[in-house]
Amino acid sequence: MSKTLYIVVPCYNEQEVLPETAKRLLEKLQSLVLKNKIADNSRIMFVNDGSKDQTWSMIKGLCEENSVFAGVNLSRNRGHQNALLAGMATAVKYADMIVTMDADLQDPPMLLPEMLRIIREEQYDSVATRRVTRKGEPPIRSFCARQFYHIMNKISDVELMDGARDYRFMTRKYVNAVLSLKEFNRFSKGIFGWVGFRTKWLSYHNVERA
Ligand code: UDP
Ligand code: MG
Repeated sequence: MSKTLYIVVPCYNEQEVLPETAKRLLEKLQSLVLKNKIADNSRIMFVNDGSKDQTWSMIKGLCEENSVFAGVNLSRNRGHQNALLAGMATAVKYADMIVTMDADLQDPPMLLPEMLRIIREEQYDSVATRRVTRKGEPPIRSFCARQFYHIMNKISDVELMDGARDYRFMTRKYVNAVLSLKEFNRFSKGIFGWVGFRTKWLSYHNVERA
Protein backbone atom coordinates (compact mmCIF):
# COMPACT_ATOMS: atom_id res chain seq x y z
CA MET A 1 0.00 0.00 0.00
CA SER A 2 1.35 3.44 -0.84
CA LYS A 3 2.15 5.74 2.05
CA THR A 4 1.27 9.34 2.83
CA LEU A 5 4.01 11.90 2.23
CA TYR A 6 4.01 15.44 3.61
CA ILE A 7 6.44 17.96 2.14
CA VAL A 8 7.08 20.59 4.84
CA VAL A 9 8.32 23.98 3.64
CA PRO A 10 9.11 26.80 6.12
CA CYS A 11 8.48 30.22 4.58
CA TYR A 12 9.63 33.64 5.69
CA ASN A 13 8.90 36.46 3.23
CA GLU A 14 8.85 34.14 0.24
CA GLN A 15 6.14 35.86 -1.85
CA GLU A 16 8.41 36.18 -4.91
CA VAL A 17 9.34 32.53 -5.13
CA LEU A 18 6.27 30.83 -3.64
CA PRO A 19 4.21 30.43 -6.86
CA GLU A 20 7.13 28.77 -8.67
CA THR A 21 7.97 26.55 -5.67
CA ALA A 22 4.32 25.51 -5.33
CA LYS A 23 4.14 24.70 -9.05
CA ARG A 24 7.33 22.63 -9.05
CA LEU A 25 6.40 20.70 -5.90
CA LEU A 26 2.87 20.08 -7.17
CA GLU A 27 4.23 18.58 -10.40
CA LYS A 28 6.52 16.25 -8.47
CA LEU A 29 3.89 15.23 -5.94
CA GLN A 30 1.26 14.58 -8.61
CA SER A 31 3.61 12.45 -10.65
CA LEU A 32 4.47 10.35 -7.57
CA VAL A 33 0.74 9.91 -6.84
CA LEU A 34 -0.01 8.97 -10.46
CA LYS A 35 2.71 6.33 -10.38
CA ASN A 36 1.22 4.98 -7.13
CA LYS A 37 4.44 5.68 -5.29
CA ILE A 38 2.66 7.73 -2.59
CA ALA A 39 -0.95 7.93 -1.37
CA ASP A 40 -3.30 10.54 -2.81
CA ASN A 41 -3.81 12.17 0.59
CA SER A 42 -0.19 13.37 0.49
CA ARG A 43 0.27 17.11 1.00
CA ILE A 44 2.55 20.08 0.43
CA MET A 45 2.54 21.95 3.74
CA PHE A 46 3.80 25.52 3.88
CA VAL A 47 4.64 26.92 7.31
CA ASN A 48 4.37 30.69 7.39
CA ASP A 49 6.91 31.95 9.90
CA GLY A 50 5.46 35.39 10.65
CA SER A 51 6.18 36.77 7.18
CA LYS A 52 5.75 40.52 6.69
CA ASP A 53 4.84 40.20 3.00
CA GLN A 54 2.00 38.42 1.21
CA THR A 55 3.31 34.90 1.92
CA TRP A 56 0.43 33.84 4.17
CA SER A 57 -2.35 35.15 1.94
CA MET A 58 -0.68 33.36 -0.97
CA ILE A 59 -0.56 30.11 1.02
CA LYS A 60 -4.27 30.50 1.83
CA GLY A 61 -4.95 31.09 -1.86
CA LEU A 62 -3.08 27.90 -2.82
CA CYS A 63 -5.05 25.91 -0.21
CA GLU A 64 -8.34 27.20 -1.64
CA GLU A 65 -7.29 26.30 -5.20
CA ASN A 66 -6.13 22.79 -4.47
CA SER A 67 -6.56 20.61 -1.38
CA VAL A 68 -3.13 19.11 -1.96
CA PHE A 69 -1.77 22.28 -0.29
CA ALA A 70 -1.88 22.79 3.46
CA GLY A 71 -0.80 25.74 5.60
CA VAL A 72 0.41 26.37 9.14
CA ASN A 73 0.55 29.97 10.32
CA LEU A 74 2.86 30.83 13.23
CA SER A 75 1.84 33.69 15.53
CA ARG A 76 5.09 35.57 14.84
CA ASN A 77 8.52 35.03 13.34
CA ARG A 78 10.16 32.20 15.30
CA GLY A 79 13.11 31.39 13.03
CA HIS A 80 13.77 28.65 10.51
CA GLN A 81 14.41 25.88 13.05
CA ASN A 82 11.17 26.48 14.94
CA ALA A 83 9.20 26.73 11.72
CA LEU A 84 10.61 23.33 10.75
CA LEU A 85 9.67 21.94 14.13
CA ALA A 86 6.09 23.26 13.94
CA GLY A 87 5.74 21.81 10.44
CA MET A 88 7.07 18.39 11.42
CA ALA A 89 4.94 18.27 14.60
CA THR A 90 1.81 19.01 12.54
CA ALA A 91 2.64 16.76 9.61
CA VAL A 92 3.51 13.74 11.76
CA LYS A 93 -0.15 13.50 12.81
CA TYR A 94 -1.12 12.61 9.23
CA ALA A 95 1.98 11.42 7.40
CA ASP A 96 3.92 8.18 7.17
CA MET A 97 6.87 10.03 5.66
CA ILE A 98 7.98 13.67 5.88
CA VAL A 99 10.39 15.66 3.80
CA THR A 100 11.60 19.10 4.85
CA MET A 101 12.95 21.61 2.34
CA ASP A 102 13.54 25.34 1.76
CA ALA A 103 11.06 27.49 -0.11
CA ASP A 104 13.74 29.05 -2.33
CA LEU A 105 14.31 26.06 -4.65
CA GLN A 106 17.85 25.55 -3.35
CA ASP A 107 16.83 22.00 -2.49
CA PRO A 108 16.22 20.30 -5.85
CA PRO A 109 12.73 18.70 -5.97
CA MET A 110 14.06 16.30 -8.62
CA LEU A 111 15.78 14.33 -5.83
CA LEU A 112 12.40 13.42 -4.28
CA PRO A 113 11.73 10.21 -6.27
CA GLU A 114 15.20 8.86 -5.46
CA MET A 115 14.83 9.77 -1.77
CA LEU A 116 11.50 7.97 -1.68
CA ARG A 117 12.97 4.92 -3.40
CA ILE A 118 15.80 4.71 -0.86
CA ILE A 119 13.37 4.88 2.09
CA ARG A 120 11.05 2.28 0.60
CA GLU A 121 13.52 -0.15 -0.90
CA GLU A 122 16.71 0.20 1.10
CA GLN A 123 15.05 0.43 4.53
CA TYR A 124 16.74 3.65 5.61
CA ASP A 125 15.03 5.82 8.22
CA SER A 126 16.20 9.07 6.70
CA VAL A 127 17.79 10.36 3.52
CA ALA A 128 19.85 13.48 4.11
CA THR A 129 21.40 15.81 1.57
CA ARG A 130 24.58 17.82 1.40
CA ARG A 131 26.04 20.27 -1.05
CA VAL A 132 29.42 19.29 -2.41
CA THR A 133 30.14 22.78 -3.72
CA ARG A 134 29.38 26.20 -2.34
CA LYS A 135 29.55 27.85 -5.74
CA GLY A 136 27.64 31.11 -5.89
CA GLU A 137 28.00 31.73 -2.18
CA PRO A 138 30.04 34.70 -0.84
CA PRO A 139 33.57 33.39 0.04
CA ILE A 140 33.37 34.79 3.56
CA ARG A 141 30.23 32.77 4.19
CA SER A 142 31.83 29.56 2.85
CA PHE A 143 34.89 30.17 5.01
CA CYS A 144 32.87 30.70 8.18
CA ALA A 145 30.69 27.66 7.47
CA ARG A 146 33.75 25.41 6.96
CA GLN A 147 35.32 26.64 10.20
CA PHE A 148 32.05 26.02 12.01
CA TYR A 149 31.89 22.36 10.92
CA HIS A 150 35.59 21.86 11.63
CA ILE A 151 35.32 23.16 15.20
CA MET A 152 32.01 21.45 15.96
CA ASN A 153 33.34 18.07 14.81
CA LYS A 154 36.38 18.52 17.06
CA ILE A 155 34.35 19.20 20.19
CA SER A 156 31.29 17.01 19.64
CA ASP A 157 30.69 13.24 19.55
CA VAL A 158 27.86 13.65 17.05
CA GLU A 159 29.19 13.87 13.53
CA LEU A 160 28.12 17.00 11.65
CA MET A 161 28.31 16.74 7.89
CA ASP A 162 29.87 19.78 6.19
CA GLY A 163 27.43 21.17 3.67
CA ALA A 164 24.46 19.35 5.21
CA ARG A 165 21.12 20.85 4.26
CA ASP A 166 17.82 20.74 6.10
CA TYR A 167 16.50 18.94 3.01
CA ARG A 168 15.74 15.55 4.47
CA PHE A 169 13.36 12.68 3.81
CA MET A 170 12.28 10.87 6.99
CA THR A 171 10.04 8.09 8.20
CA ARG A 172 7.50 8.83 10.91
CA LYS A 173 9.54 6.76 13.37
CA TYR A 174 12.55 9.00 12.78
CA VAL A 175 10.52 12.22 13.01
CA ASN A 176 8.99 11.09 16.29
CA ALA A 177 12.48 10.56 17.72
CA VAL A 178 13.48 14.07 16.58
CA LEU A 179 10.31 15.55 18.09
CA SER A 180 10.86 13.76 21.39
CA LEU A 181 13.79 16.11 22.09
CA LYS A 182 12.29 19.07 23.86
CA GLU A 183 15.06 21.64 23.65
CA PHE A 184 13.91 24.98 22.36
CA ASN A 185 17.09 26.53 20.95
CA ARG A 186 17.17 23.84 18.32
CA PHE A 187 19.97 22.98 15.97
CA SER A 188 18.36 20.38 13.75
CA LYS A 189 21.54 19.29 12.01
CA GLY A 190 22.90 18.19 15.37
CA ILE A 191 19.64 16.61 16.53
CA PHE A 192 19.22 14.67 13.27
CA GLY A 193 22.58 13.00 13.82
CA TRP A 194 22.08 12.52 17.54
CA VAL A 195 18.87 10.45 17.31
CA GLY A 196 20.64 7.63 15.47
CA PHE A 197 18.84 5.27 13.04
CA ARG A 198 20.08 4.65 9.50
CA THR A 199 20.72 7.70 7.33
CA LYS A 200 21.84 7.70 3.72
CA TRP A 201 23.54 10.82 2.36
CA LEU A 202 22.95 12.19 -1.13
CA SER A 203 25.24 14.88 -2.54
CA TYR A 204 24.40 17.58 -5.03
CA HIS A 205 25.96 20.68 -6.50
CA ASN A 206 24.95 24.03 -5.07
CA VAL A 207 21.89 25.62 -6.62
CA GLU A 208 21.61 29.38 -6.29
CA ARG A 209 18.60 30.63 -4.34
CA ALA A 210 15.70 31.53 -6.64
N1 UDP B 1 12.86 30.76 7.08
C1 UDP B 1 11.92 30.74 8.11
N2 UDP B 1 12.06 31.64 9.14
C2 UDP B 1 13.09 32.53 9.22
C3 UDP B 1 14.06 32.50 8.18
C4 UDP B 1 13.93 31.61 7.15
O1 UDP B 1 10.97 29.97 8.07
O2 UDP B 1 13.12 33.30 10.17
C5 UDP B 1 12.70 29.82 5.97
C6 UDP B 1 12.99 30.40 4.60
O3 UDP B 1 11.82 30.97 4.03
C7 UDP B 1 13.50 29.20 3.83
C8 UDP B 1 14.18 28.36 4.92
O4 UDP B 1 13.64 28.79 6.15
O5 UDP B 1 12.47 28.42 3.26
C9 UDP B 1 15.69 28.52 4.94
O6 UDP B 1 16.05 29.87 4.94
P1 UDP B 1 17.21 30.42 4.02
O7 UDP B 1 16.96 29.97 2.61
O8 UDP B 1 17.35 31.87 4.27
O9 UDP B 1 18.45 29.63 4.65
P2 UDP B 1 19.74 29.02 3.94
O10 UDP B 1 19.31 28.30 2.70
O11 UDP B 1 20.62 30.17 3.65
O12 UDP B 1 20.29 28.08 4.97
MG1 MG C 1 17.81 28.59 1.34
